[in-house]
Amino acid sequence: MYKMSYASTDWTTRGLFPEQLKNASYWWNGPDWIKQDFHSLVPSLKVLTTNLDEPDSVQEPTSLNADRNPLNDVLLKFSSYTKIIRVFAWVKRFIQNCKATCLTSKSVGLLQAEEVEASLKNLVKLIQQTEFYQEIKCFKMNKLIPKSSKLLPLNIFLDKDGILRVGGRLSKHPTLPYDQKFPIVIPKRHHITPLIIRHFHQLSLHAGPELVLSLIRQKFWIPDGRSTVRREIKRCIVCCRLNSKPSNPKMGDLPSSR
Ligand SMILES: [Zn+2]
Repeated sequence: MYKMSYASTDWTTRGLFPEQLKNASYWWNGPDWIKQDFHSLVPSLKVLTTNLDEPDSVQEPTSLNADRNPLNDVLLKFSSYTKIIRVFAWVKRFIQNCKATCLTSKSVGLLQAEEVEASLKNLVKLIQQTEFYQEIKCFKMNKLIPKSSKLLPLNIFLDKDGILRVGGRLSKHPTLPYDQKFPIVIPKRHHITPLIIRHFHQLSLHAGPELVLSLIRQKFWIPDGRSTVRREIKRCIVCCRLNSKPSNPKMGDLPSSR
């Protein structure tokens, strides 16, 4: 009989007599070392302890990134602004329906405008809490915004829902809607920002940066908005295809007879 290897799958693929298989402890129970204490096998492995007097020599797992925001991971899965809002609204409705004690208080049917609006506010609030953490913290503690903040020139304030908005001189305008007078601050470098720009760009049938920016500013305020919008519109494939100019081929030299 050939020498048995310690790979248990070999035992059956290479063939065994029933009597041998019956007595093959390695096949039925695995190797003996598997029953031993794990730490006796790996003595060098130190168990992490919470005792501060004895700092662990084991390096902390930096790959787990304590400040990594799970919301961003979720948002990265979406490539449409409207879809994000609607998915959040459906999730919120599902949670509310789960909490509802009677059938009549459950929401059914299509999403209502109020639900979509509430979903947008919740999403913006979550994004702002991570991106503008310092500014919101200052407002909540009645402190001045640090001078290093890039939002300082925007005269920002926290509204009743806890959303950061841009202040301005239009506060006493009688007819303008609240969102337009005090647009919501959106971070310049966030996954949601290009999605918002693309949404308004498509809504305006692929309009230029100025029109798109003015549409965005009816609800949102993106710092350095003009350059951000321009950069994003340059990436639009439809616009690139429609605005491209045909290249004229270079003519060859005429023959000497002409
Ligand atoms: Zn376009």
